[in-house]
Amino acid sequence: MIKLADRVNRISPSMTFAISSKAKALKAQGIDICDFSVGEPDFITPKHIREAAKAALDAGKTKYTPTAGLPELREGIADKLRTQNALPYTADQVLVTAGGKQALYNTLSVLLDPGDEVLIPIPAWVTYPEIVKVNGAEPIPLQTDEGTGFKVTAAQLEAAITPRTRVLMLNSPSNPTGAVYTREEIRDLAEVVVAHGIVVVADEIYENLIYGDVEHVSIGSLGEEIFNLTVTCNGFSKAYAATGWRLGYAAGPLSVIKAATSLQSHTTSGANTFAQYGAIAALAASQETVEAMRRTFMARRDLIVTGLQAIPNLTCTVPQGAFYAFPSIARTGLDSMTFCRRLLEEEAVAAVPGIAFGADTHIRISYATDTETLREGLRRLERFVRALSEEPGQE
Ligand code: PLP
Repeated sequence: MIKLADRVNRISPSMTFAISSKAKALKAQGIDICDFSVGEPDFITPKHIREAAKAALDAGKTKYTPTAGLPELREGIADKLRTQNALPYTADQVLVTAGGKQALYNTLSVLLDPGDEVLIPIPAWVTYPEIVKVNGAEPIPLQTDEGTGFKVTAAQLEAAITPRTRVLMLNSPSNPTGAVYTREEIRDLAEVVVAHGIVVVADEIYENLIYGDVEHVSIGSLGEEIFNLTVTCNGFSKAYAATGWRLGYAAGPLSVIKAATSLQSHTTSGANTFAQYGAIAALAASQETVEAMRRTFMARRDLIVTGLQAIPNLTCTVPQGAFYAFPSIARTGLDSMTFCRRLLEEEAVAAVPGIAFGADTHIRISYATDTETLREGLRRLERFVRALSEEPGQE
């Protein structure tokens, strides 16, 4: 048996990828699956972005770019962050990466030493604790629930900080809960961060997907002190329906970005060249396609949440962002793994068990799928939950 590194033995495979692979395999066998497990838009990347990448290929843009990304793209990203997010970054404070995930990975790798603590509001995206662990640091959960809209409070943050705390992960809008922090809530958190001199890694990948009367606030925009303690991570996957392009970025203090660039120079060497040309076009053009997708997601959110709320024994708060609903299954009496396994086997509906995100009383339903699938999935889910309540031992 070949011995693997201890560091790697500490990480668990992505449960979200595991469920969606199982759903895909069942689909390939001809089974009619309602797949609510995927974390990617069902649209394809808008045409002008695809055209720009094609033109780059045809023009022979097939060589390496500088490790930190094409200068024009770094400029475009800095400009977007300045104008849309009130984050005064310059282009040299931007690192282009192979996806938002790599932006987070590079950032945390250059910040963390073994034994450092990273505060993670839970429920959280599955990857955060794993990146922390593979870098030898400790993920420290900050438990949240419906009571605070799945948001961590400043008092909770303050109470969790120890001399070993290095980083707070902040994900607004949140995967999996769809929670969006208000300006006041972010300001309160920023005060605690500044008082203790820890770093915030702000994952803003769902910033464009917010619904109704809410705004997206970048924590780094709230003053010079918090700006200097923030690394803002983002990417093209969600806003531009470009998950397969593998393009993201980190923006932050020069020392962090330089170190992360060095690390990248020895790992991927940089992001894909012709994809970066597509990204330049994505930022430079009108954002109307992003807005059109946002409106579609909002209509789907309303459909799925209303449907979930009508199912006896499920409860569901209204998510304000991203493309996930996060209903509670607590009243069914099943743990989330059993619920999702049986839902897939008995009704061919794929959803992700909340345990993957640190909430065993919930499941995650991605509504990044067409209306007909949403409607059919709701019908099956309702039948499943009703049948459960008729099983012996259930009230
Ligand atoms: N951050 C969050 C919260 C996500 O849900 C995802 C993808 O699911 C990412 C970051 C990374 O996306 P990508 O690596 O495709 O840019």
